[in-house]
Amino acid sequence: MEFKEIFDQYNWEDVKQSIYSKTTQDVIIALQKSNLDIEDFKALISPAAEPFLEEMAQLSRDITLKRFGNTIQLFAPMYLSNECQNICTYCGFSYDNPLKRRTLTSVEIIKEVEAIKELGFKHILLVTGEANQTVGMEYFKRMIQLIRPHFDNISMEVQPLDQKEYESLIDLGLHSVLVYQETYHKEDYKLHHPKGKKSNFYYRLETPDRLGKAGIHKIGLGALIGLEDWRVDSFFTALHLQYLEKKYWKTKYSISFPRLRPFSGGLEPKVEMSDKQLVQLITAYRIFNNEVELSLSTRESENFRNNVLKLGITSMSAGSKTNPGGYAVDEESLEQFEISDERSPMEIAQLLKTSGYEPVWKDWDIALENHVA
Ligand code: SF4
Repeated sequence: MEFKEIFDQYNWEDVKQSIYSKTTQDVIIALQKSNLDIEDFKALISPAAEPFLEEMAQLSRDITLKRFGNTIQLFAPMYLSNECQNICTYCGFSYDNPLKRRTLTSVEIIKEVEAIKELGFKHILLVTGEANQTVGMEYFKRMIQLIRPHFDNISMEVQPLDQKEYESLIDLGLHSVLVYQETYHKEDYKLHHPKGKKSNFYYRLETPDRLGKAGIHKIGLGALIGLEDWRVDSFFTALHLQYLEKKYWKTKYSISFPRLRPFSGGLEPKVEMSDKQLVQLITAYRIFNNEVELSLSTRESENFRNNVLKLGITSMSAGSKTNPGGYAVDEESLEQFEISDERSPMEIAQLLKTSGYEPVWKDWDIALENHVA
């Protein structure tokens, strides 16, 4: 059975009702268990768990230290192109947003690579919009071949691809793929993606299955917080994770919690999530799943990132630029969304050290393998 069939057995409103009817007793039971099920996760993300935040934070911190030690991986995104054929209501690169489009050439990419390496990174996340003519498979293949020798590994956040396409990129050295569902609310998904390939809800939903079959090393999941009720979207993300871990058990997984950020021509969040609620969500994921990597981006404020780094996070972006050429080539090109934490990678590394953490500049698995060896 694939995830689509599991997903189709659920009804959004029923799930919502079930989360909001969890009780204090359900939360207490969940916090006492060592093997939590998806009903326990619902309890931990429910309003009933809000008074347990401190207990959840302590538990999440202990579990994370035990599994990952006092290390946090740092990474940087490299935007290769802002060309996009999709309309997404929440994104600065949306097709209907009049902006100067550009796709980096090989020469420009090497300049960006040098600037990012100079900052200390040994692991890179490549990002593009979705424009098959310019940033399709041929471009991805060329870019991976060009960039791979400069980094220990490469992650991508680009358009969803077919299994065979993923297989050929993995052969060239692709290590991880991030593919966020944005929202698991089928009807609202259509409203936010009215045009382009991304409007196909199920093609996106089935992408992690295609990645698992292709044998990818790591898959990043998440929902864009602010589009719909974050509790329900997080339930479906956790359900997706649970399914994938069972079926593609050799693959590793990470979860991100992007909160909608301002951008040129921007959309206001339909549902606000407070800082406390984001802490609740991060710690709930950790208590539910001890192995999953939890990633926090520079979308979040300096203050929030300082406070939350000890509560379950395992990786952070640092010094991010969300515009193509942002590190060295064209610092003024339009960004996908506004960064909130603008500190440099060295400042973040220093913060980690003074907080008792070791910054890791490579992908987690490689760092751990080297450590063991
Ligand atoms: S979210 Fe991605 S697919 Fe949608 S407009 Fe932005 S770059 Fe394009």
